[in-house]
Amino acid sequence: MTDHFDTDVLVVGAGPAGAILSDVLARQGIRVTLAERAATAERSFRGETVAALSVKIMEDLGYGDRLKQAGYLPLEGIAFRENGRTLLSADYSRFPIGQLPIDMPQPQLLGVAIEAARSAPSFSFLSGTQFLSLIEEDGVVKGAMLRRSGGEPYELRARLTVGCDGRFSRMRKLSGLEAKITPMERDFLWFKLPRPENWQHTSQLVARGDRHLVILPTWPDLLRVGYNVPKGGFRDQREQGITLFQDSVAALDPRLADLVRTHIRGWDDVTLLDIFTAEMEQWSRDGLLLIGDSAHTVTPVLGQGVNLAIQDAVSFAPAIYQALADSTDVIPASALQAVIAKRRSHKAMITKFQRMQEGNLAQGTRFGTFLRRLKMRLLNHSPVKYKVLDRMMNAPHALRQAPEYRAMLERLAPIGAPVDAADGFAPVAPAHQNFREEVRTNAA
Ligand SMILES: Cc1cc2nc3c(=O)[nH]c(=O)nc-3n(C[C@H](O)[C@H](O)[C@H](O)COP(=O)(O)OP(=O)(O)OC[C@H]3O[C@@H](n4cnc5c(N)ncnc54)[C@H](O)[C@@H]3O)c2cc1C
Repeated sequence: MTDHFDTDVLVVGAGPAGAILSDVLARQGIRVTLAERAATAERSFRGETVAALSVKIMEDLGYGDRLKQAGYLPLEGIAFRENGRTLLSADYSRFPIGQLPIDMPQPQLLGVAIEAARSAPSFSFLSGTQFLSLIEEDGVVKGAMLRRSGGEPYELRARLTVGCDGRFSRMRKLSGLEAKITPMERDFLWFKLPRPENWQHTSQLVARGDRHLVILPTWPDLLRVGYNVPKGGFRDQREQGITLFQDSVAALDPRLADLVRTHIRGWDDVTLLDIFTAEMEQWSRDGLLLIGDSAHTVTPVLGQGVNLAIQDAVSFAPAIYQALADSTDVIPASALQAVIAKRRSHKAMITKFQRMQEGNLAQGTRFGTFLRRLKMRLLNHSPVKYKVLDRMMNAPHALRQAPEYRAMLERLAPIGAPVDAADGFAPVAPAHQNFREEVRTNAA
């Protein structure tokens, strides 16, 4: 007896990884169901920096004008400051990629991707719907149990279930796949401030001893600020009171003194980011794949979380498309291994650099901070400065030239008028009738 599947691909989690994967699959005629726990896209503290390569990818996907309408801030450069002096700076316009990174709040970015997906008749969006558990038969994943808020659990059977459910991924925990979780020595407290007029559109890292601030201008007129505390130190910070917190930020960067005292009035204005890395040898089982933060949580250094999520989505989409075309059954883990190997190796390079940077920033002794300043100055005057930073921020350079990526873009239907699909559980739209035939014709 052949299996019944409600959808081809069930994507869990509508962050950048899940929303963009759903869109690129649905606009190729694949039946996609996207389940997101939250009922609205409100999420004020998430990664908002989109690296230049990901901006180019989103343009390739046809988002260009829609991103402009939604609003974003092009970033002009990056700077490292210590004791009031700029020790390292780079101008983004000098990177060979020829594209500035942008800062864009996630609700806007996700809105663009989900609206694009909605224009495909084979897409269903289940907002306010939680993933509960996996459906497994003979060791093969065949979908998931979901529950709409306030409703009863129900089954949704799929040929591939993709976990894009973020850094605390439930699917990762239930998958049986092993994850190595490494806590970093420090956590981050995020808050937003109005951006003063004439503030440069550069990402700044301001250090003093073993404390630092990350200051990121974001759209429309804000600064996103991260302040590091020792691991688990948020509780101490709260006990010491908000005034001491304001004073600590002001001492690190006096330019923020008035702003932080005026606008950060209580702990509701501050969000904790528990910093850890998650590494997995294997991201897939038969019928299951993990991507984005659920497969590889990174630290905030150089703002790579959103970038990696977007890269994952467009890297896996061609392999998923092909595997769906090759059979009518569940996608086997073997069909995804080549992409996993490439993505793992890229992520490992990012994590190695981030750990080194984290080690540099955690230096508190006189000798340690002296060494850090020396390294920053040396890199600043080094002829390889742009090469090093470009490798960390804009790799893998070959991604957009890969034949499977170009072929995917050729297949992608242009974003049409939005389909007025109601949120909530609805019968899965029928598959694009000609999907399998088209694949065969194209492959011939
Ligand atoms: C406070 C904070 C600050 C950050 N700052 C930065 C930064 O400055 N730079 C940077 O690069 N990165 C930053 N990040 C990380 C960045 O946001 C992520 O790397 C990026 O969003 C990963 O995308 P994703 O799609 O993999 O997962 P996410 O964006 O985390 O999306 C996961 C989605 O899954 C949904 N979900 C979770 N569980 C379930 C479930 N059981 N059922 C259904 N849906 C579920 C969630 O609601 C969410 O919408 C920050 C993260 C946080 C939390």
